[in-house]
Amino acid sequence: MDAITKNTIVVGGGISGLTVAWKLKRAGIDVALLESNSQVGGCMRTEHRDGFLLEKGPFNVIVRDPAFEELLEDFSDKLSVVQASSEARSRFIYRQGRLMAVPSNPIALARTPMLSLRAKCRLLMGLLASRRPTSEEWSIQDFAVRRLGGEVSETLVSAFIAGIIAGDISKLSLNACFPSIADFDRHARSPIGYGISKALGRKGQKHKRRWRGLVSIDGGLGAIAEAIGASLGNDLHTHCHVGSIDRKPGGFTLSGDMGNGRAQTFHCSRLVMASPVAAAGRLLEPLTHKAVEEMRSIESASLTVVNMAFRAEDVEHPMRGFGFLVPSNEPDFPLMGMLWADSAFPHHGREGHRLVRLFMGGSRTPDINSMSDDNLLEIARSPLRDLLGIKGEPTLTDICPYPGAIPQYHFGHREKVERIKAAVAAVPGLHLAGNYLGGVSINDCVRVGKEVAESLINEECPAVTPQPQGAGEHIDSSRGFAHANSK
Ligand SMILES: Cc1cc2nc3c(=O)[nH]c(=O)nc-3n(C[C@H](O)[C@H](O)[C@H](O)COP(=O)(O)OP(=O)(O)OC[C@H]3O[C@@H](n4cnc5c(N)ncnc54)[C@H](O)[C@@H]3O)c2cc1C
Repeated sequence: MDAITKNTIVVGGGISGLTVAWKLKRAGIDVALLESNSQVGGCMRTEHRDGFLLEKGPFNVIVRDPAFEELLEDFSDKLSVVQASSEARSRFIYRQGRLMAVPSNPIALARTPMLSLRAKCRLLMGLLASRRPTSEEWSIQDFAVRRLGGEVSETLVSAFIAGIIAGDISKLSLNACFPSIADFDRHARSPIGYGISKALGRKGQKHKRRWRGLVSIDGGLGAIAEAIGASLGNDLHTHCHVGSIDRKPGGFTLSGDMGNGRAQTFHCSRLVMASPVAAAGRLLEPLTHKAVEEMRSIESASLTVVNMAFRAEDVEHPMRGFGFLVPSNEPDFPLMGMLWADSAFPHHGREGHRLVRLFMGGSRTPDINSMSDDNLLEIARSPLRDLLGIKGEPTLTDICPYPGAIPQYHFGHREKVERIKAAVAAVPGLHLAGNYLGGVSINDCVRVGKEVAESLINEECPAVTPQPQGAGEHIDSSRGFAHANSK
């Protein structure tokens, strides 16, 4: 097969790589996106089965970044945004063998059995005024204990972090995971006072959000990936596993395994690695040992998502709400949490049935992906029976493992990312995108992808020189084919 030469190649068709490729293509840059799987989306995948909409990876997005709003606006003819139901505002915590509602107002807080009286008083005092940090970098646990008290930290904060990052709050850096909260923590003594001044400051702002809170898409989040993928046309190459990358004068040469023994060579002058951090580390080894060493030191948590449907008459619990999370002070409980998928997003469900989504693993059960399906279902059986009174067998079960899917922003993460970026900047034409750089959420991946694309659009692009087989270091890079042939 003839080699394909492009100005820019993006490796990895998850939301990070898709965002970069979409922005570049829209700016008229000759770009190709290479993705190993048969479809784009990475861990953002939706399946429609037996009348249910199964979110196999991420479940919802909180619209909080203009870059994500821009994406929704740009594809508004293909994507119909669905707001979460009002029921989704009710959230629960598993505590001492039962589900307790997360208090949503001061009266509910005063009444909740979830916290001791001492913890409630400590929380109130902390919200009025509490100590600022004394170090340059501090953990989520340090922040939560200092501001809200030890019991709230263990019971509420650890549970919410399990639901977002699947990590250990004593190791996660607040500065890296939640920079805006760290900024408030560094500067304000009173959380309530800070909240009021922020709200007043926002009052006169022009930017009005079109979507608020949690959203999904009519066809599921996977529809976002499909829409962006379709906009790339022939410049999207699925079933293309990049096995190696070489840098030679004039650009990069990538070897793609297209399946069935077919190989495809690609040349480009600029390369964006948008694969998960582990894959990026393997592929970039010949180009930047320094960056790769740092990448390898980033730990990632593994997860398993299990979607299950039951006949409505087999479920005793009303399951009205977003679902429940499990705090770290319940170490014997086998789940990290469960979402009541069809209550939060009725379009996920099917008449006469209930759909739940269990998630397990994270830093609490690091070996989750080595468990057999039977073992996982056995683990899920008792919470389903004892907490929700589910008697019958599931009418649908879908198990989706995610090995090393969520990078853990431990202490020193931000500096690590700076060192990675500096090492990568020393390789002309090489760029990175992905969920280990500027946040794990879909919002963050889109924001980082947009920033990478904008820097590529603004830079003067060197011309790419196609490399004949076995070409050495003496190719004249001025003889460029920057916008030569696409596939
Ligand atoms: C189970 C789960 C639930 C989540 N829930 C939420 C949520 O509700 N809301 C939210 O905002 N975020 C959520 N997240 C986080 C968010 O979904 C991810 O951080 C984000 O989707 C990662 O996107 P990405 O493009 O950086 O990486 P990925 O989605 O991992 O995509 C990387 C792509 O690179 C490809 N690739 C790898 N190696 C190669 C190669 N050699 N050649 C070619 N292609 C390659 C892979 O096949 C993959 O498609 C969740 C994550 C998981 C795992």
